[in-house]
Amino acid sequence: MSRSLETFEPIEKGSVRMYHCGPTVYQRPHIGNYRAFLFADLLRRLFDQLGFDVIQVMNLTDVGHLVDDADDGEDKLEVQARKDQVDPWKLVEQVSEQFFTDLKALHVRPAHHYPRATDHIPEMIQVVQKLLEHEHAYQVGGNVYFDVHSFEKYGALSGNRIEDLEAGARLEVNDEKRHPADFALWKSDPKHIMKWESCFGPDGFPGWHVECSAMAMKYLGESFDIHTGGEDNIFPHHECEIAQSEGATGLPFVNLWMHTRFLRVDGGKMSKSLGNVYSLDDLVEKGFEVLDFRFLVLKAHYRGSLNFTWDALQSAAEGRKGLMDFRRRLEAACTQGKGGEEGSDIVDKAREEFQLAIAEDLNTSAALASVFDLRNHFLKRGLSFAEAKQALAFFNEVDDLFGLFPEAVETSSGLSDEEVEALIVARTQARSDKEWALADEIRDQLAEAKIVLEDGADGVRWHRS
Ligand code: AMP
Ligand code: ZN
Repeated sequence: MSRSLETFEPIEKGSVRMYHCGPTVYQRPHIGNYRAFLFADLLRRLFDQLGFDVIQVMNLTDVGHLVDDADDGEDKLEVQARKDQVDPWKLVEQVSEQFFTDLKALHVRPAHHYPRATDHIPEMIQVVQKLLEHEHAYQVGGNVYFDVHSFEKYGALSGNRIEDLEAGARLEVNDEKRHPADFALWKSDPKHIMKWESCFGPDGFPGWHVECSAMAMKYLGESFDIHTGGEDNIFPHHECEIAQSEGATGLPFVNLWMHTRFLRVDGGKMSKSLGNVYSLDDLVEKGFEVLDFRFLVLKAHYRGSLNFTWDALQSAAEGRKGLMDFRRRLEAACTQGKGGEEGSDIVDKAREEFQLAIAEDLNTSAALASVFDLRNHFLKRGLSFAEAKQALAFFNEVDDLFGLFPEAVETSSGLSDEEVEALIVARTQARSDKEWALADEIRDQLAEAKIVLEDGADGVRWHRS
């Protein structure tokens, strides 16, 4: 809102209450959506790590999100249900289930509440009634609209001016509205499948924006700390949420707004016609792990641009393997207890750099650089037993925040297939860097785990002896 960095001050000391705009559950969320949700998870993990009492809410939009994001067009859910020839309620169930499966695979910590819009219709009606009482809204037949001229701050978040909006061609003329920029709080349409009877008439359903106001205030109170979403949510969605919530309560709605920049694909927008609207399954089908995508997202600052390409995912996969391999070596060094007992301040310095980067508007990209620097340093010059212990503790703190490493799947040889492959990549790298001692060390380590390497023209093959 202030367009500047601000020091985070919770409303209530030691606690943080956050709301994230969740998926519209008409189609399985795509990887772009997950960029926004992974950012929400990063905030969650950070506040957990800092010892805050966290209440985190992510809604599921299952009605009222119209095709054009504003007041026109059909309900996205009903359009999709018709295409799939399935009942919209059934579609909501199917997509929500896929969404939760995806979240789990992505190591997203479950939010405390996942409210569904259709379970909160009475709360939405209450907000609309309050707005009518406070003369921020007016009713025309079964429709209720918000009067944007009644709310002075309208436009403060997005930087839009009502005059410009009204002059804009985007706004279709609607005779019922007092001003073209007014937006719907409640609509009525006998053809709508998901509909409710209310004090405004029969066959009604809520506007998408009022859903989030009502659900956020129900679970987090009338004023809360942080609200997030993707950058497209800034306008109209969040601008309207502020107007409705503050218009209804007279209190400040949210202290801090944070928006994730859109994930682009192949340098452009994801679009069905280009066939590049990817789901997590599409990545897995190409041989990647879901956590490689998590890493790709974390490698970029949430407000920075991020372009998804298969090459970028490949390099994220290699980077993640490199980190996993290093952590495994740290674990081994700690259990074997070889080498000197001397600690050093190298790990403390890396930790300090990491924490400073995260504190500066969650700059995960800079934070990860300090982790890689530490790894490279130790790979070059080796490390003592005490340093391995320090570094492992630091790696575990990093992973508590980033959630990148799977639980180790140990095989009888002590190394999983994935770990073997990571070591082979590390060895190949060491050889091309002419780090012969390191390459030999990795070869010995693999030999100890009874892994046989075959160096061929087409790369390294391996099997268990
Ligand atoms: P929707 O399912 O369209 O309601 O979107 C759910 C969330 O995903 C919203 O916060 C959107 O802003 C966000 N979102 C949608 N597309 C992208 C994208 N390409 N990159 C990042 N976030 C996105
Ligand atoms: Zn929302």
